[in-house]
Amino acid sequence: MSSPGFGLVTAILIRYPGLVKTIGLIGGMSWESTVPYYETINRTVKERLGGHHSAEILLYSVDFAPIEEMQHEGDWHGLRDTLVEAVKRLERGGADFIVIATNTMHRVYEGIVERTHLPILHIADCVAERIKLAEMKKVALLGTLFTMEQDFYKGRLEDRHRIRVITPELDDRETIHKIIYDELTLGTIREESRDALHAVVDRLAEAGAEGAILGCTELPMLAQAKRSGIQLFDTGVIHAQKAAAIALGDADV
Ligand code: GLU
Repeated sequence: MSSPGFGLVTAILIRYPGLVKTIGLIGGMSWESTVPYYETINRTVKERLGGHHSAEILLYSVDFAPIEEMQHEGDWHGLRDTLVEAVKRLERGGADFIVIATNTMHRVYEGIVERTHLPILHIADCVAERIKLAEMKKVALLGTLFTMEQDFYKGRLEDRHRIRVITPELDDRETIHKIIYDELTLGTIREESRDALHAVVDRLAEAGAEGAILGCTELPMLAQAKRSGIQLFDTGVIHAQKAAAIALGDADV
C-alpha cells in the first residue's frame, strides 16, 4: 500500500505537465486563415505534452460578409460591438483568454479590452517578440490597407516595441489589399498574385527591411520563404504558438 506522501507525488506527476487554460478563439476572418490557427495550437500542445493531448479551445467563428462590409464602410464601432458580443459568448463558455485571429480587427482591440475582464493576446505583441529575438531593427509590414495605413499596428510596434516599420508605396499597398479581399479571403490562389506579392517584398528588402511581417493572416497562403531574400513573419502561426504556450502555462498573456 502506498503512503499518503507517495500518493501526493503521484498526483503531481500525473497532473504535470498539462493544460492550464482554455483558449477563446475568434475566427472566421476569413475562415481560411482560422484553419492554421486550430492546427498550430493543437500541434504545439501535442509536441509539448505528447500522446493524445490536444488543446482546449472554444472557437467562435463569425460570418465574414458583414465584417468585411463594415470595414470598408469604416464602421469600426459596429465592428467593435460585433467582436465584443463574440467575446461575451466565449466568456460565458468559460474561456480564460481571447485570441482574435486577424491582424486588421486589432484596430478595435482597445475598445474590446475595456469591455471584458478576459485578457486578449495582441497579435502585434507576439510578432514583436519574434522580431526582437531575430535581432531585427527595421521590418516591412504587409497587410490590408487598414493595417498598413492606420496607426493601430505600426504605432504599437514602433512605440511599445521600438521596431522601425516601413510599408509599401501606395500602388503596392493597393495591390496587396486587392489580393487579400478579392482573392485570398475568398480562397482563391493566383500565381500572378504570388509574383506580385514577392515583387513587393523584394522592393521592401531593397529599401532596407531586414524582415517582412505578413500582417494579414491570409498572406501565408501565397508567400513562400524560399522565394524571399528576407525572413517572413507568419503572424497567424506566431500568434497561435503563443496562445498554445499560454494554454500550457509556459507563458503569460
Ligand atoms: N485576416 C486578415 C488580417 O489578418 C484580413 C481580413 C480581415 O479583415 O480580418 O488582417
